Amino acid sequence: MAIDVKFWGVRGSIACPSPDHVVYGGNTSCVEMRIGDQTLIFDAGTGIRNLGKDLIRRKVTEASIYLTHTHWDHINGFPFFVPAYNPVARFHVLAGHLTEQGGVERVFSAQMADPTFPVPLSAMKSKLTFEDFPVGSVLNPADGIVIRTAPLRHPNGATAYRVEYAGKSVCYVTDTEHVPDQPDEVILDFIQNADLVIYDSTYTDEEFPAKVGWGHSTWQEGIRLCRAANAKRLALFHHDPDHNDAAMTVIEQKARSQWSNTFAARDEMVVVIE
Ligand SMILES: [Zn+2]
Ligand SMILES: [Zn+2]
Repeated sequence: MAIDVKFWGVRGSIACPSPDHVVYGGNTSCVEMRIGDQTLIFDAGTGIRNLGKDLIRRKVTEASIYLTHTHWDHINGFPFFVPAYNPVARFHVLAGHLTEQGGVERVFSAQMADPTFPVPLSAMKSKLTFEDFPVGSVLNPADGIVIRTAPLRHPNGATAYRVEYAGKSVCYVTDTEHVPDQPDEVILDFIQNADLVIYDSTYTDEEFPAKVGWGHSTWQEGIRLCRAANAKRLALFHHDPDHNDAAMTVIEQKARSQWSNTFAARDEMVVVIE
C-alpha cells in the first residue's frame, strides 16, 4: 500500500551531463510513481530514456505518461523511450494545458518530424493513445488511485498533479513561478497535508529577481509553501543546469538547515511513501 517514487531526471531547461553534475545528475524532468502494478510516469524529459530501459528489464509494457507541459525539457526524451517501439506495449499520454492549442498528440508528432528528427512518431509501434483534459480534472487511472490536477503559473501553461492512494499523497508541482510575499493560493490548497511535494526549485531567492517572468520558483518558496500547507516532505526539483554539484550541495545544506524535511532530488533516487 505504498507509492514508490523514483526520480529519473531532476534538471530543468536542458540536460547538463558533465563531471560537475555527477552527484545530482544531469537528466531533465522525469519521475516515476509505482503503485501496486500501476506505473505512472510524470514528464518525458531525457530521464525517460533510462526509465524505458528499466521498464524493459522489469517487463512492464503498460504505463500512463502525465505531462506538466510540453516545453523541450519535459518531452524530448520521448523519442528515445524504447518501450514505445514495442508492438505489444501500451502507453497513454495525457496533458492538461493544450485543450485549446491543438492537443498533445500534435506536439509529440511535431517533435519527431522532418527535419529535426529522423524517426516519425508513427514508427513507434506500441499502442499509443493521447488525451487532453481540462486542467482541474480529477483523473482515476485505476481502482483506488486518484490524480488531482491544478494550473500552474508558467509561460504557455503547465499542470500540477497530486497522486492519492491509500491515504497517501505525492504532489508533482513544476514548472511554476511565484510572486514574492504572495503565496500561490492554488498551490497551497493543492498540496495541503501532502506526504511529499516535488517542487520547482530552479532558483534561489537571491537569484530570483533577475529571473522574474521566466516561469520558475525557488527552494525557499518551496519550504514556505510546504510549511504553510502542513506538507510532510519537500523534494527540491528542476534544478538549474548552472547549479553544479558544489552549488547543489550548498543549496541542499541551506535548505535542510531551514527545514529538515527537505532534500534535493537526484537522478535515480528512490523515495517510498508508506
Ligand atoms: Zn521545465
Ligand atoms: Zn517549462
